[in-house]
Amino acid sequence: MINSANQPNFNLKKIDRFSLPDIKGRFGPYGGSFVPETLSNPLNELNEAYLAAKKDPNFKEKLSFLLQSFAGRPTELYYAERLSQEIGGAKIYLKREDLLHTGAHKINNALGQALLAIRMGKRRIIAETGAGQHGIATASVCAHFGLECVIYMGAEDMRRQALNVFRMRLSGAEVRGVETGSKTLKEAINEAMRDWVTNINDTHYILGSALGAHPYPGMVRDFHRVIGEETKNQFLKLQEKLPDEMIACVGGGSNAIGFFFDFLEEEDVRLIGVEAGGRSLEEGEHAARFEGGKLGVLQGCKTWILQNKDGQINQTHSVSAGLDYAAIGPEHAFYRDRNRIEYAHANDDDALNAFQLLSSKEGILPALETSHGLAYAFRRASELTSDKVVCVNLSGRGDKDAMEVARLLNKDRTFPRPL
Ligand SMILES: *Cc1c(COP(=O)(O)O)cnc(C)c1O
Repeated sequence: MINSANQPNFNLKKIDRFSLPDIKGRFGPYGGSFVPETLSNPLNELNEAYLAAKKDPNFKEKLSFLLQSFAGRPTELYYAERLSQEIGGAKIYLKREDLLHTGAHKINNALGQALLAIRMGKRRIIAETGAGQHGIATASVCAHFGLECVIYMGAEDMRRQALNVFRMRLSGAEVRGVETGSKTLKEAINEAMRDWVTNINDTHYILGSALGAHPYPGMVRDFHRVIGEETKNQFLKLQEKLPDEMIACVGGGSNAIGFFFDFLEEEDVRLIGVEAGGRSLEEGEHAARFEGGKLGVLQGCKTWILQNKDGQINQTHSVSAGLDYAAIGPEHAFYRDRNRIEYAHANDDDALNAFQLLSSKEGILPALETSHGLAYAFRRASELTSDKVVCVNLSGRGDKDAMEVARLLNKDRTFPRPL
């Protein structure tokens, strides 16, 4: 089931998007830095270094050169004509972040933070990964710069993503399995933080989404803003107008906020983030933080979290590992309160259908994460006329998911619906 988003009704005139986060890392009531004292020093040091780098034209120049030569930017804006005809309604455009090196948007942030680490004189990189996409991007960037790289990954995720573990090792990273708790992403983040505290002098922690304690959410957003900047220029050049609606999937929220940021003041452009509706909206069966989540603190950040009434973090489920996390980035909560970004969810089956439809109509295999955004976009497009334009951020490619999709489709032979 896909829920329908409300019509926008917002007043951004009073908000200066560039003033967020404030100096304490807050987006209104969200964000901030809820960490033990041992972590406040490294976070402050990182914040100072980032603020200095941001003002340094040399840093910007190096980063944009690498985004082009190593990562493959700019990415194409593609009109999915056969898909649009099949759905019948608005024209669907895809921002092709799946074409980037290592297969997803994650490399934008990994490159930015690695450059920052080098500026700070840190030659050892650590990172956490769930499905492996952020680990692969980080390992690849570290190989490029010749940095030592340690990736923390839940033992359960390592088992499920054995190929990705091998890919990271081929790029020279050490992958450390985490055996505590549910042996997935949340535990891997805890372990990475522990490592950081112990090795602070030579180590930088490359966090993989617009989440965690200040300065991560704002910094990760900034490294992904290039997605929206390019999209805007491409639309103005190609069409001489902006899209009517922009849609992206939301795990921690990095691809979505990077895609949306430059459109926040464009009142005529509707912005919609799509969460993972999982098997159902029962507790433990999904990862839609705005459906059943509450305000709380997780891993350094105040935001909407899936937790039970005693504040214990709930189990989450999604067919896509990259959306399967109990907290959402704090900036999303802020713009949701102001009705500037709307949020919807798509469930596992919607995503599997969208995966197959894009693959068969366009020969483009989307990541299962991305397929959630696509599923909702197809619904929206079918409700609009052909003079309207819907643009989806194609956050990553689906090669990594092909085996899992094959397994799921085999299990239930009545599925998928015939195309
Ligand atoms: C990691 C990932 C996501 C989810 O992360 P965000 O921070 O919400 O962008 C979405 N799509 C792909 C392809 C990913 O690899």
